[in-house]
Amino acid sequence: MKLVRSAIVTGSTSGIGLGIARALAASGANVMLNGLGDAKEIDALRTVLAKEFGVEVSYSAANMLNKDEIAGMVEQTKKQLGSVDILVNNAGIQHVAPVHQFPDDQWDRILAINLSSTFHAIKHALPIMKEGNFGRIVNIASVHGLVGSTGKAAYVAAKHGVIGLTKVVALENANSNVTCNAICPGWVRTPLVEKQIEARAAEKKISIAAATEDLLREKQPSLRFATVDQLGSLVVFLSSEAAGSMTGVSLPVDGAWTAQ
Ligand code: NAD
Repeated sequence: MKLVRSAIVTGSTSGIGLGIARALAASGANVMLNGLGDAKEIDALRTVLAKEFGVEVSYSAANMLNKDEIAGMVEQTKKQLGSVDILVNNAGIQHVAPVHQFPDDQWDRILAINLSSTFHAIKHALPIMKEGNFGRIVNIASVHGLVGSTGKAAYVAAKHGVIGLTKVVALENANSNVTCNAICPGWVRTPLVEKQIEARAAEKKISIAAATEDLLREKQPSLRFATVDQLGSLVVFLSSEAAGSMTGVSLPVDGAWTAQ
């Protein structure tokens, strides 16, 4: 699938976002990377992607906690890559604790990064998309946008919010060529999940391998992680002309987690 477009992928210095940025670049899109990390490593990543796929790759250090920086990232993309045709809201963090012990600052950070940043990025990208008469917004929600799990109050609330926001943006733009959809991954083995596997191993006094199996067995009937390549391919499809009539949907990629 060939996409000659310009894309922003928030949180693309690691994990799922990096997989999505690679897939978009491989399909011919110019990409604005974003995320935290070592400046030298990010610059090397930018250069490698640009060379490997023959596309333009820029980087915005915008912190998803800061709405002015998010507006700046969208502006920078228009300036450096010519337009904003595809916006993938992927940046996200996790904190696990029961509600009565949940730290206030973690609640605020999770809501800001996982939900509010998506609103701010969409708000600023939409006028540019409408001007270009093309837009594809893909929000990386989670199975936790569809169902709950203990210990994840802020994350589950934020991801349910992302799915609600996805529906409203889809409805408001239904008669334009701008679509807005959500992807709801189950377990994907990234640094975000690695931390949860380590915590489970420590809590249950079991090996990392046993904790990994335990984590999958508890929720994901496929007993396999979804992969960043699978998610990247889905984003490329949702960003294509072929997906022009799909809008307002939330697509689980979860090995039957939410089929139960
Ligand atoms: P990750 O920790 O590997 O990557 C998170 C990315 O977000 C990194 O690039 C990081 O730098 C960036 N980020 C964090 N805080 C930021 C901030 N303040 N400003 C800018 N960037 C920031 O995690 P991941 O597993 O790849 O998660 C990506 C998305 O996928 C998240 O929204 C997560 O909720 C969602 N998700 C992950 C899983 C999973 O199993 N890994 C499952 C469902 C949904």
